[in-house]
Amino acid sequence: MSRIAYVNGRYLEHSNAVVHVEDRGYQFADGVYEVCEIARGFIIDVTRHLDRLERSLSELGIIRPMHRSALELILKEVVRRNRVLNGLVYLQITRGVARRDHPFPKANVRPAMVVTAKRIDPEVLSLKAGRGIKVITVPDNRWERVDIKTIGLLPNVLARQKAIEEGADDAWFVDPDGTVKEGSASNAWIVTPQGQLVTRPAESGILRGVTRTTVLDVVAKLGMTFEERPFTVEEATNAREAFVTSASAVVMPVVAINSVAVANGHPGSVSCSLRDAFFDVAEKTQP
Ligand code: PMP
Repeated sequence: MSRIAYVNGRYLEHSNAVVHVEDRGYQFADGVYEVCEIARGFIIDVTRHLDRLERSLSELGIIRPMHRSALELILKEVVRRNRVLNGLVYLQITRGVARRDHPFPKANVRPAMVVTAKRIDPEVLSLKAGRGIKVITVPDNRWERVDIKTIGLLPNVLARQKAIEEGADDAWFVDPDGTVKEGSASNAWIVTPQGQLVTRPAESGILRGVTRTTVLDVVAKLGMTFEERPFTVEEATNAREAFVTSASAVVMPVVAINSVAVANGHPGSVSCSLRDAFFDVAEKTQP
């Protein structure tokens, strides 16, 4: 089956799905995006993803290209047309197409929008979660506004590539003070030796992950407590558990940091319970 993408008002086969050479996303990374999980035929947490999209657009002064209900309809349509039961739907909005020049183009330039979807085998993901992932740490060399979900992801790409080249799965960005910021495409968590769940506050310096927010709902539902505070790489390495959260990995145990095993080097029980309970708590929308 050929894959279908939405590009500026049209549903096209991937081979014909193209954007203009002077799209400001292509030239300046002048755009924002969202990725929603699709699980068991439902789009997960679409309200929170669209809330964050609106915030990202407004922080960059990009006009929402259409009403929010229309955006949601297109997301659903792309999922439906690609018959994705488990996978991801990706939405990108850029400031639009204009002759290359740094200032914003004139107000009549329409934002450009692309939506794609892909299938992911849930079995492969759950096998990965059963094994856990290894991470390396890298200095955080990103700009200050990582709270905006922009398509400018070069530091994230380079960090992930470094991780792969070093035989790991992901990289954690670390502040000069030694505290963990977040993963290259995920939020980072630990469970302390005393059993306390800890994650960094999302007020600044990291992206407020939608999965992070929903996992906090799961934490409340399970009657667990948590603490929002920065934690160091050393603390994470000596933790009882570590894990990351993201729409693409949900809750993913971290079993090694910089080649040092976390606890016994196997996924811990807290990350597994949070992963198991996630789907019941998350918002589920039929495409
Ligand atoms: N931090 C970064 C840098 C990310 O790219 C992502 C994934 N988009 C996340 C955190 C996790 O966010 P979410 O749970 O909304 O996928």
